[in-house]
Amino acid sequence: MLGVTLSELSTVPNGGDYITMMNEITLDTNMFEKQKHLYSGKAKTLYTTANEDFLIMHFRDDLTAFNGEKKSSLPEKGKINNYFNAFIMQSLAQAGIATHFEKILNERESVVKNLTMIPVECVVRNFSAGNMSKRLGIEEGKVLNPPVFEFFLKSDALNDPMINEYHIHTFNWATNAEVAVMKRLSFKINDILTPLFLNAGFLLIDYKLEFGRLGPEIVLGDEFTPDGCRIWDAKSFEKLDKDRFRRDLGNVIESYRSVAERLGVKL
Ligand code: 5GP
Repeated sequence: MLGVTLSELSTVPNGGDYITMMNEITLDTNMFEKQKHLYSGKAKTLYTTANEDFLIMHFRDDLTAFNGEKKSSLPEKGKINNYFNAFIMQSLAQAGIATHFEKILNERESVVKNLTMIPVECVVRNFSAGNMSKRLGIEEGKVLNPPVFEFFLKSDALNDPMINEYHIHTFNWATNAEVAVMKRLSFKINDILTPLFLNAGFLLIDYKLEFGRLGPEIVLGDEFTPDGCRIWDAKSFEKLDKDRFRRDLGNVIESYRSVAERLGVKL
């Protein structure tokens, strides 16, 4: 079921009883002291906490592109992305999408639910850009109607190759039912985020989502920040996301901050 509307969304038992139950757990702040380093990705580090149901997600200042070939570190990026991600995750939760976000802990860290991640990336494209423009020879900025959905395997070693539902099923990365839920949620998220960005004067060009399992539910995990999406100014079409770093356009952090401020993210 694609293209679910906002009114339909409110009738979907999103997150279900399991999430409600998790949210009702009394959140003792001592539970959220970092215990063990769990995993370091290209821009975030995950730590365990005393409660195995929750992790601490630390947003670093590191910025990478082209599968880590291009690297930099930009002061404040971790802080901006932590607050940006919290704002988007909370907006999605308010609209009925179950996410792993629990709360902001400090400037660079948030508490998230401990999901079992599904090793695929879900990309939604509202306008042609990036990899799809290159792959299909389509000029950047063309409206995609309907939006395009693509799966990629999450694998640095293989440079995140594009895959389809047959690969996911055959190699047991997720069940067919989980694939259907990830697609449905990705399009619901598009229905929520596209107007949210447009109201602030931005085109949400494309973005990448990752989902995980929490008990029986499929829940949005990872992050939503300008590192993992394309955002253009709706009037000037200026690029305001990680493409500024990929393409050496300058003013990377200034652009991240201005998008955050115009969206109403409190930094
Ligand atoms: P593309 O396939 O054009 O490279 O990327 C499509 C969208 O997904 C872009 O907004 C891009 O930032 C995001 N994206 C794709 N793969 C990754 C990834 O491995 N990490 C991050 N942070 N974003 C990604």
